[in-house]
Amino acid sequence: SLKASRRGAAALYSAEHELRLRSGHAVEAALQTADLAAEMEVHLQPIVQAAADAPTVISVEALARWTSPTLGRVRPDVFIPVAERTGMIHRLTTTLFGKSLAALETLPDTIRLSFNLSAHDLTNPKTVLGLLSAIRRSSVAPSRIIFELTETAVMRDFAIAEASIRLLRAPGVSFALDDFGTGHSSLNYLHRLPIDAIKIDRSFVTGVADEAGRTLLAAILALSRSMKLACVAEGVEDASQLAALRDLGFDTFQGYHFAMPMPPAQFLASLPASADKDRRTTGAA
Ligand code: C2E
Ligand code: MG
Ligand code: MG
Ligand code: MG
Repeated sequence: SLKASRRGAAALYSAEHELRLRSGHAVEAALQTADLAAEMEVHLQPIVQAAADAPTVISVEALARWTSPTLGRVRPDVFIPVAERTGMIHRLTTTLFGKSLAALETLPDTIRLSFNLSAHDLTNPKTVLGLLSAIRRSSVAPSRIIFELTETAVMRDFAIAEASIRLLRAPGVSFALDDFGTGHSSLNYLHRLPIDAIKIDRSFVTGVADEAGRTLLAAILALSRSMKLACVAEGVEDASQLAALRDLGFDTFQGYHFAMPMPPAQFLASLPASADKDRRTTGAA
């Protein structure tokens, strides 16, 4: 009917409008005028050790969340590349790391925090020194901080990236290679970088349903063990994936099956009372 086709055209128009709004230009304009401290938040997603049936949260990954007054919610895989391209990533990383440290300060000492570094952060001395001084000023033990980096971060300039990693490791921070397996030279970097862990990309975790996928996962796990690297399976979405991964010997997981990324206060409230720092120190029931 005419009505339906009008509705269809309207939907199409608004989808197109939406696309245009969210296109590089609009995002760039909104980001450039953004009040980063007010508009950016970090959400926390638990990473759990679940060899047995009771999963324990060992760390959280800090994930950037931007609510723009003009565009609404914009996803990090949209605005991070724009921030990199427009030279805003230093300010963004600094803001997000500050918020992540503030969140970490409220968490029990047994929980660590993983922070994503952009490809541009490791090659910017200003950023590296800024991260170091934020760690120094913070009350959290540096051993509770893990930086996640991708192969692209390292590929930009291996020598500088490696030097930055060594600088940041000096106070006791750890490093994890994120989205492992999706780059073109994972294996090359694995033995050349001073890192502590790998995070296997969700695309491999999805493959756990097939025999070939399981063979690949088993091989990656064996490799990580022989290199004494911790190994996190990312993007675990259901119980059958979890069971299959456990059968292969995986014990550390992250994904919607366990928890979604959530505001720090909500994460804190989800912890058992014994692990809640505030309740413990105030002695309230
Ligand atoms: P990432 O570091 O690999 O983070 C994991 C992404 O997978 C997150 O998406 C998370 O919400 C999502 N995820 C977690 N569990 C599941 C699952 O079970 N299924 C599915 N389908 N997805 C799952 P998010 O938050 O949209 O972030 C996307 C990417 O943006 C991140 O990938 C990271 O590369 C980048 N990013 C996020 N926050 C920051 C940040 O503060 N700084 C920088 N430089 N990059 C960030
Ligand atoms: Mg990550
Ligand atoms: Mg990842
Ligand atoms: Mg990613």
